Amino acid sequence: MKKMGRAVVYDAPNKPFEIREYPVRDVNPGEVLARITMATICRSDIHSYQGHRPNPCPGILGHEIIGVVEQIGANIDNDMRGDRLTIGDRVTWTEYFHDGASYYRDIHDLPQKSPGLRKYGHDLVAEDPHFLGGFADYCYIMPGTGILKLPDALSDEEATPLNCGVATMISMVEAAQVEMADCVVVQGLGLLGLYGCAIAKARGARQVIGLDGVPARLQMAKSFGADVTLDVTTMDDQQLVERVRSLCSPDGADVAMEVCGLAAVVPTGIHMLRVGGRYVIGGLVNPNDTFELDGNEILRKLITLKGVHNYHPRHLIQALDFVMANRLRFPFKDLVDSRFSLDQLDDAFAQASARNVLRAAIIP
Ligand SMILES: [Zn+2]
Repeated sequence: MKKMGRAVVYDAPNKPFEIREYPVRDVNPGEVLARITMATICRSDIHSYQGHRPNPCPGILGHEIIGVVEQIGANIDNDMRGDRLTIGDRVTWTEYFHDGASYYRDIHDLPQKSPGLRKYGHDLVAEDPHFLGGFADYCYIMPGTGILKLPDALSDEEATPLNCGVATMISMVEAAQVEMADCVVVQGLGLLGLYGCAIAKARGARQVIGLDGVPARLQMAKSFGADVTLDVTTMDDQQLVERVRSLCSPDGADVAMEVCGLAAVVPTGIHMLRVGGRYVIGGLVNPNDTFELDGNEILRKLITLKGVHNYHPRHLIQALDFVMANRLRFPFKDLVDSRFSLDQLDDAFAQASARNVLRAAIIP
């Protein structure tokens, strides 16, 4: 009998999910078949689900995934770090894959922007190999994916956000060049922002300032390395800028990072920076996220402005090592705060969209 697996299918934005079964075939060379043990709902899954950005459908959403290796195709011996990969290993993998020639990978060391790159959770379920998303029993890990073995000590809750939330934030902190003794502003204290506070602090930041409007998140950020948290609902932009600048003597913050998904915060964040300050955009994932900037401010203050989208495979290794090294210092295990089964995906999305839960885990 043919082996089958369940997938929770996303037919169209804002429509209830439906569980359907698809055949699970043997792997081709270069592929690995993983039995999913946990997938978490990322904010960008919610954007897709609500129709704010295009995503192929019918498809399987979910790209923050971990699983156990069930089959290994020819030509695959080791994980990204060079450790031997065997059946039964628990693994994470890059949220994207690309196989073949790549101008951006080979010439500019930007494999994450290779033309033709595909992302897990962004593919059609009807086409072979069907399983390329997180909310299902299985996922095929395709050629051109970076695979990383997970240490036993790490819980599924700590490991699942590694390949999106943590690795993206590692990429942002690298782009922002956060250095020892820097003052770092984090605009938005969702999952990315909380990791951002922790990574900046672990890198030796003197002052980490977290901004958000949700009291529970402001509270939580304190245990993730934020020295000061400011409630953006209690002051206007000018007051906020003055408050942050007063906390970052002598002339403002070294770094500000946008991870709240609101374009309007970018100019405010740039006003907070000192001369030579760095600003990184990480949350404006939807088209037409526009803001107005005074070019003269960028010029006069010698501001560096960068965007981060996806991440380099090395950031996934760094994400794992950062969480392993700091899991007793920061309560990463508390970030994934709820569990749902595949047939509860509608409820999980509703809870996650309403921000009743921070990170919802789906367990097949
Ligand atoms: Zn994500």
